[in-house]
Amino acid sequence: MANSSENNISAPLVKIIGRPGSAEAYTIRDFLHRCDIPYEWIECKSNEEAKKLAGVEGLFDRNLPVCLFPDGTRQENPNIKQIIEKLGWFRNPSRSEYDLAIYGAGPAGLSAAVYGASEGLKTILVEQYAIGGQTGSTSKIENYLGFPQGISGSELAKRAWEQADRFGAEIILARQGVRAEFTPAKGVGYLDDGTKIIARTSICATGVQYRRLGLPNENQFLGKGLYYGAGASEAAYTKGKHVFIVGGGNSAGQASMHFAPYADRVIIVIRNKSLKETLSQYLVERIHNTKNIEVLTETEVTALHGNEFLEEITVMDRKTGEERKEKTHSVFVCIGGEPHTQWAVEVGIIRDEAGYLVTGPDLLQQGKPPEKWPLDRTPYYLETNIPGVFAAGDVRHNSIKRCASAAGEGAMSVAFVHRYLSEG
Ligand SMILES: Cc1cc2nc3c(=O)[nH]c(=O)nc-3n(C[C@H](O)[C@H](O)[C@H](O)COP(=O)(O)OP(=O)(O)OC[C@H]3O[C@@H](n4cnc5c(N)ncnc54)[C@H](O)[C@@H]3O)c2cc1C
Repeated sequence: MANSSENNISAPLVKIIGRPGSAEAYTIRDFLHRCDIPYEWIECKSNEEAKKLAGVEGLFDRNLPVCLFPDGTRQENPNIKQIIEKLGWFRNPSRSEYDLAIYGAGPAGLSAAVYGASEGLKTILVEQYAIGGQTGSTSKIENYLGFPQGISGSELAKRAWEQADRFGAEIILARQGVRAEFTPAKGVGYLDDGTKIIARTSICATGVQYRRLGLPNENQFLGKGLYYGAGASEAAYTKGKHVFIVGGGNSAGQASMHFAPYADRVIIVIRNKSLKETLSQYLVERIHNTKNIEVLTETEVTALHGNEFLEEITVMDRKTGEERKEKTHSVFVCIGGEPHTQWAVEVGIIRDEAGYLVTGPDLLQQGKPPEKWPLDRTPYYLETNIPGVFAAGDVRHNSIKRCASAAGEGAMSVAFVHRYLSEG
């Protein structure tokens, strides 16, 4: 019944008590896992257990899930903002104006915050959810320089957070940048709660958001058996289960290795003929050598079924068109992502066809900067077509889509921020 966050060996800071398949409880677990906060998930299976363990009327009491903190605080069905407040992480911007505002706290944004703040810039970093971005859903990053045994995404993010904080960067969590206005040497970012951030330069490091399957009832099962990303917080709760992973990229491959020690069967569903086309060789070999991982090639998920939570999926053989049903409570969708940069259109920032922000040399046509570019020089390497507004990491057109390159671009973008500021 009780499981600890396997990522963390210290005593649980938060006990989460809820019913099986609860989307709200999943959101809390996912958030705490990404922040590397130790927690204990206590799943109630009956009305009696809910009464006894959570002190509520029964399994379907709307006060579930209940969170208990070591100081005795009890939160009933809390949202992420309430949890952040309880952890003492909620803050408002302390300054009326900054040198640098960064949007997105994945590796690119965190790195920009470390370099910006350590080099004396008044720096603020805004993150819509939890620190770490995509790395937060990664059980182990094995190719990041300096960690020969690999490092979990949440640990990497927490270390970067501490580092940025130590240098004095202000970090605002659980609030989203929704709109922007840029005039020469001044950017105004508006957050979803109405907070306004004024800064001389801005870095957009908003990465990509997971692509969806495109099935009609996806929202119904979100967090209730259907998850986006590699589900780093969920492996320990899949004992004895059949787990489906949709996608054939490295993130799907890593997820399958992460679930294999716990689940009975891990089934990877891919559209291609083999994993070799999309997966690193070392992962292909590990997957083939792991007995309880199966690969369904040339197959796709075409329907989701269930009531309160996901119970079954339909998979289709793309060669024959034949469909069959498979029982499962756990489907993890790892089919890549797309940038959400609609705000950029409104302010005239140039995007490519897929919505990625175009920067530096990619903006030039026959060696000339785009129309309305106001300066004598051409845009710096990571600069958009608005002077002083930069893009770093996965959100950038032609970026490499790796942790190390995102962190590198974060650092580089700060070097260009200095050059821009020195222009006066
Ligand atoms: C499961 C998985 C496994 C991976 N494994 C590896 C690996 O082993 N090695 C490797 O090198 N790479 C790996 N990657 C890729 C790597 O994680 C990404 O390339 C990297 O995280 C990109 O960093 P980023 O900072 O550009 O963007 P992201 O990590 O996408 O971070 C962007 C952040 O911006 C936030 N955001 C978005 N919009 C807003 C807004 N409007 N306001 C405020 N915040 C916003 C998001 O919430 C997010 O936190 C993996 C990715 C996944 C999904």
